Amino acid sequence: MARIRSSGNLTTEQRLASLLRDAGLAGWRRHFRVAGRPDFAWRSVKVAVFVDGCFWHGHGHDCGRNLSPRTNVEAWAEKIRRTKERDRKATQRLRQAGWTVVRVWECQLAKDPKRCLDRIRGALPDASDPRSRSLSLLTL
Ligand SMILES: [Zn+2]
Repeated sequence: MARIRSSGNLTTEQRLASLLRDAGLAGWRRHFRVAGRPDFAWRSVKVAVFVDGCFWHGHGHDCGRNLSPRTNVEAWAEKIRRTKERDRKATQRLRQAGWTVVRVWECQLAKDPKRCLDRIRGALPDASDPRSRSLSLLTL
């Protein structure tokens, strides 16, 4: 069962990985072992990026991808509710530990990849800024 979930996420993650490479954003690691196992993490500057599948993570009603299942509605709703709760706690724990957390919805990445990329870039310190270099040295 776990395979179904991770393979469902994989293409979206791979898509973001190639977007990051194309944008020249390097240095991230996949599934770094901190709260929530972020899909992408820049450890030295403490930036974590999650790509959330719209169905599993319960995206809102205006999201076209969050199709309601026709059977076992309550079981699905409970599962999704727990996933959302886990997401919320992971974000909270990371922020308390000084991380910047960016969550990207699967549908946003498909519709407007540039905007998603801008959000991630905005969370990362500017490499040309000397202050960010000293920041990353301090936290290494
Ligand atoms: Zn969505």
